[in-house]
Amino acid sequence: MQKRDYYQILGVERNANQEDIKKAYRKLALQYHPDRNPDNKEAENKFKEASEAYDVLSTPEKRKAYDQFGHAGMGQGAGGGGAQYSDLNDIFEQFGDVFGDLFGGQASKRGKKSKSSPMQQRGHDLSQYLKISLKDSYIGCKKEIDIYRYEKCEQCDHTGCKAGTKSDICNTCQGTGSMHYRQGFFTYSQHCSDCSGQGFKIKNQCVKCHGQSRYQKYEKFSVNIPAGIYTGAELRVAGKGDSGSFGGPSGDLYLSIEVEIDTKFYRREDDLVSTLNLTYPQLVLGCQLELENVDGSREVIKIPRGCKVGEEIKFSGKGFARIQRGGRGDWVIITQCHIPTKLSEEAKKSLLEYSKQIGDSCQSSGGGISGFFKKFLG
Ligand SMILES: [Zn+2]
Ligand SMILES: [Zn+2]
Repeated sequence: MQKRDYYQILGVERNANQEDIKKAYRKLALQYHPDRNPDNKEAENKFKEASEAYDVLSTPEKRKAYDQFGHAGMGQGAGGGGAQYSDLNDIFEQFGDVFGDLFGGQASKRGKKSKSSPMQQRGHDLSQYLKISLKDSYIGCKKEIDIYRYEKCEQCDHTGCKAGTKSDICNTCQGTGSMHYRQGFFTYSQHCSDCSGQGFKIKNQCVKCHGQSRYQKYEKFSVNIPAGIYTGAELRVAGKGDSGSFGGPSGDLYLSIEVEIDTKFYRREDDLVSTLNLTYPQLVLGCQLELENVDGSREVIKIPRGCKVGEEIKFSGKGFARIQRGGRGDWVIITQCHIPTKLSEEAKKSLLEYSKQIGDSCQSSGGGISGFFKKFLG
């Protein structure tokens, strides 16, 4: 299914500030809140859709990636999903503070897990630096990513407990994770030392993850890098950050892209640019040549008669893919004149002869080129 634009979902302008975005989300959340629309699947989906849009647009780095690449930039390759919420509780947990004052705190309470089972926590986002060649950025590529991350423990099904056992509420703090003390007029609280502030205990820990519900490991996977990507872009790979704990969702991986400098081509906005060395006769008389693009494809270029140095000749639509707007830039070829440093006697003679031939014809255009030739050659 085609995903709708996040700005459109929230009904805000593309340059909306954080306050407008929050306001718009609260309005939609109020309208489609499941408590107000019991058993209404459509309202629930609208609520999830708005929450996903809010998640992206309220997080600066996610918003930046979305602005640059749209939905394609939000996951692995084109069509990858953003933060898709399947569980309403995740939404309440994450955005509880946004609804807090709307529902008198009811909504945010709803998301809290009972402390007899550990609190679900979202895993951290991770970031990695990725260098690619200009050619790869032009045609798009698949890259192997090698990363040390937390993976959810499959042996205990993300619970941290040995098969057939459960975690218990901590008796010392009654599951609150903190202890309250009274001293004269003052009460103060501190983390429960018995359960390290977690509110629960796992007596029979899973041997693989030692009761952590996740463990660290090296992982290799491949990621599609879209054509048109450029230096400074951040690609979000959904769910490839650290796994959450105790059933919590995984964080995301952010790939910071650097496109390496190429010896023959460079990028200017969405255009692919290269220079072409031509001889003086080629520029004067015009010519036809075959050129190789960065992707290896070939094009025939026609140099017009009397072509100037620094002329830009374009192959339209042969530049870089525009990730957000669609379409492509141009391939721009800039003409240069090859000046030989070594000349055979024969060639030198011809050049001098030529110089005599054209005589003072350039003087009217203000420089006196023939004077220049006389001074240095004659
Ligand atoms: Zn385990
Ligand atoms: Zn405790």
